[in-house]
Amino acid sequence: MFQKILIANRGEIACRIIRTARRMGVRTVAVYSDADARALHVEMADEAIRIGPAPAAESYLDADRIIAAAKITGAEAIHPGYGFLSENPDFVDRVVAAELTFIGPSAASIRAMGLKDAAKRLMEGAGVPVVPGYHGEAQEIVVLASKAREIGYPVLIKARAGGGGKGMRRVDDPDDFAEALSGARREAKAAFGDDRVLVEKYVEKPRHIEVQVFGDDFGNAVHLYERDCSAQRRHQKVIEEAPAPGMTEEMRTAMTEAAVTAAKAIAYSGAGTIEFIVDASEGLRPDRFWFMEMNTRLQVEHPVTEMVTGIDLVEWQLRVAAGERLPLTQDEIGLHGHAFEARLYAEDAARGFLPATGTLHHLRFPAASGAGTVLRVETGVREGDAISPFYDPMIAKLVVHGPDRPATLAALGTALDGTEVAGSTVNTAFLAALARDPSFAAGDVDTGLIGRRQEALTAVPPPSEGLLAAAALAASGLDALPASDDPWAALAGYAHFHAVPQRTVLIFAEHEITARIDPADRQKQVRFETATGLSRPVKAPAARLALWPGHVTVFDGAASYNFAVPDPLQSANEAGAGADSLRAPMPGLVKVVRAAKGNQVAKGQPLLILEAMKMEHTIIAPHDGVIADIAAEGSQVTDGAVLVRFVEEDKG
Ligand code: ADP
Ligand code: ADP
Ligand code: MG
Repeated sequence: MFQKILIANRGEIACRIIRTARRMGVRTVAVYSDADARALHVEMADEAIRIGPAPAAESYLDADRIIAAAKITGAEAIHPGYGFLSENPDFVDRVVAAELTFIGPSAASIRAMGLKDAAKRLMEGAGVPVVPGYHGEAQEIVVLASKAREIGYPVLIKARAGGGGKGMRRVDDPDDFAEALSGARREAKAAFGDDRVLVEKYVEKPRHIEVQVFGDDFGNAVHLYERDCSAQRRHQKVIEEAPAPGMTEEMRTAMTEAAVTAAKAIAYSGAGTIEFIVDASEGLRPDRFWFMEMNTRLQVEHPVTEMVTGIDLVEWQLRVAAGERLPLTQDEIGLHGHAFEARLYAEDAARGFLPATGTLHHLRFPAASGAGTVLRVETGVREGDAISPFYDPMIAKLVVHGPDRPATLAALGTALDGTEVAGSTVNTAFLAALARDPSFAAGDVDTGLIGRRQEALTAVPPPSEGLLAAAALAASGLDALPASDDPWAALAGYAHFHAVPQRTVLIFAEHEITARIDPADRQKQVRFETATGLSRPVKAPAARLALWPGHVTVFDGAASYNFAVPDPLQSANEAGAGADSLRAPMPGLVKVVRAAKGNQVAKGQPLLILEAMKMEHTIIAPHDGVIADIAAEGSQVTDGAVLVRFVEEDKG
């Protein structure tokens, strides 16, 4: 076994690989870009090396720097994770040329499967059923259009170099073919630098069912059953599961045999996935599944397979790469219970799944998903970390395992309900709605399900009155008061909070909500200002909430409601000349503090140095003034946190 490996990736997958390596006694080297200098994977690894600036092309995709990092640290092997360089055969060649081991298949296997058209021709030759269509060399529009007619509409135009659902267009009408073709080509050229396409029959009631395979260097190949990844948006997976709902022994045998045949056809070594498209219009039938592509790497959704087989796929990857045989034979690989994985993303489901960024000011996962089930959270971020625009906006994968599909799906819903994220728009409520969708719950899945139910799945009910009251109470700071019977205790708390406004303004979805709270009211009741006066008192229920700079987020099941809390001081300052407090422009570490409480400082004087994204930012006094408060040296701050406060000047 290796003594030390380098992980050429970031985020949850880097953390997940480190965990297994550690358990096996293998030391780990992390690599990071400037955006990730404080990332979790850097903290978890035994060593970490900077490989460049934030853009992936200058860091996580820079083969030279990654190989140099492995050489410098004495790592013997490189694990590529998924994405980035994981399916780049030229990278594999260079790793091998540098006398390092690539933890993955050979460059030849990756090349054989790298282009969808060539892979399909290869599979056809090996006797694996492939999606009916045209995957030849010709690219002239007349040829492709006539092939499309032969295949029969609807058809799917696909980039041969495609991945991540890019460069794909469904065409229902021959009149739309030319435009769809140029769209697919443009997207493919931009994403993969290759605009060649293939044309496939668009399968009816398509289900995406894939088979996990594993090979070693001794010619052995096994499968680890199937995963269903039909719940997709924009051709990308949302919730995956194992086994596939409604799978029959006959269908499973046919699919897994085809998958092992495919792996053997290219003498595959390591972890791989054979993706099939299934026509489920008449149930699962062994003559209605076809090879789509092979992913020659560890898949994002590999944990569901680990949960139902009890096998650690990363351990197997390390063993096989180190020259060992597959640890188990086919007969020894069992299938137990059911597993789901939900991908928690920073994205706006209601706005076409637009990717989001932000700082995770509040991030909590439940400890468990209910009796009889197991919850596993795979994440690469912690509270206070940022979701930057540079990389995939995945926050975590929630993986649940249980005895059967209904119990496990219920557990997934419970786990999502207990997940709290504030600081960025997230898809938690959408995932929970999908987990509770009647069709999904019935196992009646196909890749069009999310699209058809889009509206219902992304609808957000307006916050209840109680929820508004809880948000207002939290924003006022009055909820922190002890619910004591002694009115003086409440008043003492009130005094401690000095200048607590009795009138609290919240902004929700561009609506201003003004609440009145009596600090002495131990009932914690809130009245709202309305056009006709004050509302009746609304009792604020105990609520799960998070306070973060300028905001309150209230959690209700898997839904979250963000309220902006305009800071009266800040608005006054913005209107006036000087800023009264200085806030951290980004999350970071207060490295040096050059002034103290009570100091008179002059405009332009350096007050402290914030280290963020591996760079030092000097925070200077914007005006003359006296310091009322300053952050402590060595403290970690989130963005928007107050670093320095000045004594209020009487501006008369
Ligand atoms: P899968 O079939 O396993 O879902 P895809 O074909 O969608 O995988 O590709 C994997 C995706 O993972 C890529 O599109 C890329 O955007 C994303 N990705 C790559 N590296 C990382 C990472 N370290 N963390 C999160 N996402 C990543
Ligand atoms: P990528 O490399 O982007 O993952 P795939 O070929 O795996 O591309 O296709 C991505 C998704 O597009 C599939 O999971 C499936 O939902 C859909 N898809 C692909 N081919 C077909 C087809 N012939 N008919 C219907 N849907 C398809
Ligand atoms: Mg695919």
